[in-house]
Amino acid sequence: MIGKLLAACAVLFGVLSAPAAAQTAPRNVVLVTIDGYRWEELFRGADPTLVTEPAARARYVDVPDRAQALTPFLLSFAQTGVLIGDRDHGSCARVTNDFWFSYPGYAEMLEGHPNPHIRANHAGPNPEVTVLERLIRRPEFADQVRVYAEWNVVPDILNVERSHIPVFNPPDESAPHDPQVIARAREVFAQLPRVTWIALGDTDNRAHERNYEAYLAAAMAADDFLRALWDAIEADPRTAGHTTLIVTADHGRGASAGGRWSGHGSGRWRGLIVPGLRHVGSDAVFIAARGPGVVATNAYDMDHCATSAQVAATLLESLGLLNEERQPDMAAPLTIFAPTVASQ
Ligand SMILES: [Zn+2]
Repeated sequence: MIGKLLAACAVLFGVLSAPAAAQTAPRNVVLVTIDGYRWEELFRGADPTLVTEPAARARYVDVPDRAQALTPFLLSFAQTGVLIGDRDHGSCARVTNDFWFSYPGYAEMLEGHPNPHIRANHAGPNPEVTVLERLIRRPEFADQVRVYAEWNVVPDILNVERSHIPVFNPPDESAPHDPQVIARAREVFAQLPRVTWIALGDTDNRAHERNYEAYLAAAMAADDFLRALWDAIEADPRTAGHTTLIVTADHGRGASAGGRWSGHGSGRWRGLIVPGLRHVGSDAVFIAARGPGVVATNAYDMDHCATSAQVAATLLESLGLLNEERQPDMAAPLTIFAPTVASQ
């Protein structure tokens, strides 16, 4: 009798609680950006023509698999989630803004469309509203949006005076930025908010200094951080299985030849294109994601590139809030979710 009663209770409990738990478990998202990290290094590894020093060649070039030697965790998204942008194999992602530098890139990915007001990195506080600001306006997200950024323009991109999004910037501008951001971001691993943007960028800082080996080292450090972040997410029952991690870059860089790799930008200036400022190919980016329901796709080939603008709606969909927060001018979410998740 007691056995039957327990069995009945178990059935009843199962029927009542399992779907309810699935519907109410809060979903989280973490966006990590690696400023100006090229798809070339991500998928091909270090460019042997740019690495000269013997110790660096031993570390990055004379290895069995150059890409694996650099960012193995990010590459694993191809198996555990989705990884778009390997143009050598016909997978394509790009920005759709006209400029191919940082503020326009972040504005595009966080608003879901190119922002016509942002034509320079010193454009000042963003007149448009990012998806992070739309989320923090919701009562249940009031203290659940946090940003850790190496770049001191990020408060403008998010218009923090208006949005009140808390942004951590590195206190010491003269020291490498990413280690400072990573140290602070690690402090919240145990209490991850629902929405986190971690903006790394020593890749871009070292590239502009034409220090290719330091650029590679910054990419490796970013990859180590991503692995530690994911391990922490998976170890915490509050976030494990409920958290989507999206990783992308705000722009690419120019080709290796002629030192063009160190810079980026379309060369657009006051309605003209200045050839000397144009870094062909720096509109190319990668987009990676993993988490509940994220599956690989081959939808984005060279004729149908994924775009940075699609990140905003993808972020909303990963929270189950696409229908509520999507804007008419937002690009469609990436088709990376299995149907059960996409239907919510
Ligand atoms: Zn940038």
